Amino acid sequence: MMDHDRPDEPGRDDDRPATRPGREDEAPAAGSPRAPLRRAPTPPEIVEIASPNHGPRRGVAAPNMVVIHYTNMSSAALALARLCNPAAEVSAHYLIDETGGTFRLVSEMRRAWHAGVSAWGPVEDVNSHSIGIELANPGPEAGLPPFPEAQIEALERLLFAVRLRWAIPPARVLGHSDVAVGRKIDPGEKFPWARLARAGHAIWSDAEAPVPAPALPPETLLGVHALKLGYRWEETAEGFADLVRALQMRFAPDETGAPASPRLAARVAEMAGRFPVADGERRSSYAPPGPSGRVHVAPPRPDEAPDDDGFGPDFDLDTE
Ligand SMILES: [Zn+2]
Repeated sequence: MMDHDRPDEPGRDDDRPATRPGREDEAPAAGSPRAPLRRAPTPPEIVEIASPNHGPRRGVAAPNMVVIHYTNMSSAALALARLCNPAAEVSAHYLIDETGGTFRLVSEMRRAWHAGVSAWGPVEDVNSHSIGIELANPGPEAGLPPFPEAQIEALERLLFAVRLRWAIPPARVLGHSDVAVGRKIDPGEKFPWARLARAGHAIWSDAEAPVPAPALPPETLLGVHALKLGYRWEETAEGFADLVRALQMRFAPDETGAPASPRLAARVAEMAGRFPVADGERRSSYAPPGPSGRVHVAPPRPDEAPDDDGFGPDFDLDTE
């Protein structure tokens, strides 16, 4: 059964920022406590196209993460159709096409089906905790074309509005490859994490390999630091190789596919020291306790997507 939002749900207005930054006379002075937010960009024009593929968030009242994807499909139009097809049982809150056109498919109040089997720190139901944003991109089989400027600009404007609305810290803006190590590789090594971090929307390290090089091989502490940062992976040799690749795509994209380097280790160590996952939890990320004092976790509903992720490698778009 489809489960459309009713017009009176609060999520209907959720393209409106909670506050209205952006007026020049209100811009904070550089160096003031509010300076990191800078002046708000113009909120993106959003086209509403309702997808039936969503359900209630489970165990959380509000999103506290953003997960970025690429569609891995030949066109934005095809991706849009798939994300809105009840039989596909996939969705995301937003899709941004190559020209920067921004579509909202699922209300931010609802749980969209984009992350699949995923984990970040203690969070194992990433869909319930996140806002999913798909970037139209045909993916590796088409040579992973760079993300056009207009698309990244639209993403930055959307992130500004979403992060302000839900107070999502930059350390909790992640790629699908971060939360599904070994299973997903989007948004890939062409995604401009360093640029997003300069705009305040993600974390990044410019650390270089220490000189002289440390006595330990670079892999030795990589796992410990990745764990502290929030990564989860399969504890096998293949799983560790998948982890190294995920870390490279995020923090040293020019090294993707190479052996772990001291530079990668230095960057992951710096990020783990500054942004341990436990510090990213926020009060508002949990539903208020019920009368018993326990957090109410909504049971799965029969009309939601099944747990298995029955899509082949041709599609990145992910269920549940
Ligand atoms: Zn994805």
